[in-house]
Amino acid sequence: AAELAMFKAKSSGRQNFQFFTEELQQQALAAMELERNLRRALAQQEFELYYQPKLELGSGRILGCEALVRWKPDGNMTIGPDTFIPKLEEMGRIGQLGDWIIDQVCRQLKHWRDEHGLSLCVAVNLSVKQLQQEALPEQVGLLLDQYELPRDCIEFEITESMMMHDPESAVATLSAFQFLGIAVSVDDFGTGYSSFGYLQHLPLDALKIDRLFIQRLFQEEKSAEIVRAIISLAHNLNLKVIAEGVETQQQLAFLQDEGCDFAQGYLISRPVPAEEMTQLLLGHRDGKQ
Ligand code: C2E
Ligand code: MG
Ligand code: MG
Ligand code: MG
Repeated sequence: AAELAMFKAKSSGRQNFQFFTEELQQQALAAMELERNLRRALAQQEFELYYQPKLELGSGRILGCEALVRWKPDGNMTIGPDTFIPKLEEMGRIGQLGDWIIDQVCRQLKHWRDEHGLSLCVAVNLSVKQLQQEALPEQVGLLLDQYELPRDCIEFEITESMMMHDPESAVATLSAFQFLGIAVSVDDFGTGYSSFGYLQHLPLDALKIDRLFIQRLFQEEKSAEIVRAIISLAHNLNLKVIAEGVETQQQLAFLQDEGCDFAQGYLISRPVPAEEMTQLLLGHRDGKQ
């Protein structure tokens, strides 16, 4: 067909035909373009951290927030991490962004403490490559000392699949975090296909119930049972439990009744830029909301 470009490729002495549709060519070009843009983004610091509050259900207080990275290639566009984190991993450049994120969070924490008297805990998502970096906890410890920040003002989130990817280095890195007094939570809990075995052996502090279960709470049978089971599993293991993706008052009330410790979601606030987070925290502290 006219829109098929046909190439002959030789492999192990046999002639194979590979068909590249225009669509595949377009995809390849787009991938190269994305890589080029990301290299520029890293060099020119086109990233920005947004923050989403974590509400403590027992007290109704905002004790912390989660840092969520955004890419702003120009004045108007905002690109979410699902598009570029996997690409940066593939390019072997995720460490560079990861280091910038942790430093940026420390600066922000310092600013909140020094300029506004706000002390809170910021959760940072790690990538699988960072978890394999066994020197990471020590680097984080040094950075906190440098910024004169306490150990409990930063925590990390990792997914089950990240732990399963390389269990040995996960154990080493998590133990080092524990030794330093830095908390680690399991993100998107319940969606991985891993066993619960690791919960017994890894030093963890909290489980974050995946937002799928929260979304389905009043829509699908058994979701409420699953959420209840995760909450009691966490508590029986002496872990805190956080619900993510809370969007309705009904979901929040359910979680409160079931003794969930923390909630995050659009109902409380969307992820917002640092300055907006400052206003939100100040307003919250002064009882304006
Ligand atoms: P995550 O850590 O599970 O973050 C929660 C995601 O759910 C965020 O998407 C957040 O904006 C979104 N979300 C929060 N509340 C609600 C809600 O009520 N409803 C709905 N529909 N969504 C909600 P986001 O910011 O696009 O991040 C996606 C994922 O990218 C994160 O999932 C995390 O795995 C990764 N990520 C984000 N920031 C970083 C980072 O700094 N480093 C690394 N390595 N990964 C990051
Ligand atoms: Mg997270
Ligand atoms: Mg999550
Ligand atoms: Mg997620």
